[in-house]
Amino acid sequence: MHELSITRSLLRQVLAAARGAGRVERVNLLVGEEAGVVPECVSFYFERLSPGTAAEGARLTFRRVPLRIRCPECGREFSRVEDVCGCNAGAEVVSGSELVVESIEVEDS
Ligand SMILES: [Zn+2]
Repeated sequence: MHELSITRSLLRQVLAAARGAGRVERVNLLVGEEAGVVPECVSFYFERLSPGTAAEGARLTFRRVPLRIRCPECGREFSRVEDVCGCNAGAEVVSGSELVVESIEVEDS
C-alpha cells in the first residue's frame, strides 16, 4: 500500500528528529491537496508502526496545503489546472503535492 511506505518513511524522519529529545507527543504534517495521501490511512498505519518507538502514541495533525502551479513562461500562478494561462509551456507544481513533517512536539522531561 501507498500510505504504508509513506508512513514508514515519515516515522523514520520523526524518530531521527526526536533522537535523544524524549517522547514524541505530536507530529504536525503538511499535506498537499494533490499529494494523493489519505490522512486517515497515514494515522492508521502510524498507530501500528509506532509502538515500541519514541513516537508511540503520538498524535498526528494534518495541515492542508492548497495546490499552486506556475507557468514557467509568464510566471503566473494558478490554483487550478483548468485556469492555467495560454502559454502552453507546461506547468510546474509550486506546492500541493508534498507530504512533509512540519514540526514535532516532544514531551518535556
Ligand atoms: Zn503563462
